[in-house]
Amino acid sequence: MRTGGWFWSAATGVLASAAALAAGGDEWTPQRERMVAEQIAGRDVTDAAVLRAMRTVPRHLFVPEAARREAYGDYPLPIGQGQTISQPYIVAYMTQLLRLKPGAKTLEVGTGSGYQAAVLAEVTQTNVYSIEIVAPLAKTAAERLKRLGYEWVVVKCGDGYLGWPEHAPFDAIIVTAGAEHVPPPLVEQLKRGGRMVIPVGGAWAVQSLVVVEKLPDGTVKKREDIPVRFVPLTGKGRQRE
Ligand code: SAM
Repeated sequence: MRTGGWFWSAATGVLASAAALAAGGDEWTPQRERMVAEQIAGRDVTDAAVLRAMRTVPRHLFVPEAARREAYGDYPLPIGQGQTISQPYIVAYMTQLLRLKPGAKTLEVGTGSGYQAAVLAEVTQTNVYSIEIVAPLAKTAAERLKRLGYEWVVVKCGDGYLGWPEHAPFDAIIVTAGAEHVPPPLVEQLKRGGRMVIPVGGAWAVQSLVVVEKLPDGTVKKREDIPVRFVPLTGKGRQRE
């Protein structure tokens, strides 16, 4: 069976992206396996679907060509426009915190390279909505994701502070830039029973990864998880400060 950029994989019994099939045995596989074993499973990420996604998505194709050799290192890398692709462990850890199930409708704020969006697409096997405020990054990421078969990831250029009301509510929301507060429009667009993960704190300072849960009765609960450091969330959120 073939559905757009996704293929039925007899090996795994699930839908697989073209990238997943290509990644099955390329020259980068040993590095990717080592990255997962040492940096991700070797720490505290245990969710099998997240580990599978991290083993599958070809991270080296999401970084600038000059940085390809470093793609599987235990650190973030520059992707141009003053922005970064996050450290692999942080991508995996934040994805695990979302407790995604297959079919979960997910919003990402901060597409950057498109890598996190591809990881989300591998885990949920359905549409991922991703917003990037820097136009050239949004364009490059959208083209890259399409080329790699992640056609189910929908990228738009805009201010993610405002969310994407046309596709709300979302089962999960992930913000991959540091916000000064949790944006109310994103809380509004979270489904009851849904989760949001967002770094909160000052720009260029150590921030806290905050987990926001909307309970079935609509009550919103927040808790601080680990300290992190992300590039700032720009747009409306900053102008209000
Ligand atoms: N998730 C990305 C990846 O996998 O490559 C890395 C994201 S990078 C750490 C943060 C991104 O958030 C940058 O590309 C930045 O331009 C974007 N960003 C910052 N403020 C934003 C906003 N208000 N709306 C959408 N994107 C924003």
